[in-house]
Amino acid sequence: MDSPTHFYKNIVSPERNVVFVKVGNAQTIKRFKIMKIGDITIEKGEHKLVQLPVAKLINGEYVLVEVEVFRAEEDGPTMLFCAGMHGDEITGVKIVMEALEQKIFDKLKRGKVIAIPIINEIGFNQSTRTVSGKDINRCFPGNPKGSLASVIAHLLTTEVLPHVDYGIDFHSGSVGIHNYPQLRINNIAPSPNLRLVKNTGASIIVKKNMIPKSFRNEAYKQGKDIFVFEGGEAKRLDKFALEEGLKYIQRMLIEKEMLEGKKSSLTTPVLKGSYWVRSTDAGIFIPKAKPGDDLGRKEVVGTLDVGLSEPPVKLATKEPGHVLGMRTLALTNKGDAVAHIASFLNVKEVEEDDENK
Ligand SMILES: [Zn+2]
Repeated sequence: MDSPTHFYKNIVSPERNVVFVKVGNAQTIKRFKIMKIGDITIEKGEHKLVQLPVAKLINGEYVLVEVEVFRAEEDGPTMLFCAGMHGDEITGVKIVMEALEQKIFDKLKRGKVIAIPIINEIGFNQSTRTVSGKDINRCFPGNPKGSLASVIAHLLTTEVLPHVDYGIDFHSGSVGIHNYPQLRINNIAPSPNLRLVKNTGASIIVKKNMIPKSFRNEAYKQGKDIFVFEGGEAKRLDKFALEEGLKYIQRMLIEKEMLEGKKSSLTTPVLKGSYWVRSTDAGIFIPKAKPGDDLGRKEVVGTLDVGLSEPPVKLATKEPGHVLGMRTLALTNKGDAVAHIASFLNVKEVEEDDENK
């Protein structure tokens, strides 16, 4: 079968081995000895592009999930860096592409790296979050006979996750919410590898409830430490989040002695839970706080112009905390989310599904 042309193909090593695979037999035989994705074996010292077929489209092109696998000569852990589960979240896609372009994984000392720059190829091409209206991140563990979103979820569950020890799944805020670069980890036992997550150097680490049928939830069930990166806003490229994301990748690899480099020793606090500040009226939202700010209790995050003869309405925090994300859209209705705050206190998390606000 011919391999279709893809957006990021030109940036990876031309000498790599491109293979189009049959799926359905993911297995790691004698862990760290033989690695197979689909029916493709990745030997020591190899870098392969494995193309997992999802379905044929009406124009005859195949939808694929393209998986770059790097395996060092020496055995070690397997890290996953994936992005574009939501097709319009460009910053994460660019982070993984940039890591490939900079050949960070070509310098692997031990273990393996699985890099997937675009999980949702259809959504990426159409600049949409979903696939035919379905969110892949709510379809796990997936179903090979289900919707396209469910087929993609199933491929990740069966062909990729079984190989993985640790990883980062890169996301952005949805349209209208700009997120400060941050990592989200599970808030239930067994606790994730805190040393590893802290040593990414992320300035905000927040424990979040797991969303049912999400990738992170499926990874947790399989006993894998997948941290969720949030940075920037859908449809936009955030340069700061891009730089931070690249640092997190490299620091995680250094921490596990998979890359040469000095280990960090960072003491980022892990924040427990978050809440949304919502608009109390309809009007034009004028932000005052920025993503990344530290705010006190009842501190104003922004104001709402509600009419020429009316005084502006102040929208304020409930509890002190760190601004994870801020609304970027001006027109605001009552109940709309305007700021996402990670609380410094041990607050009970009020809303789980914050990507959908
Ligand atoms: Zn997302």
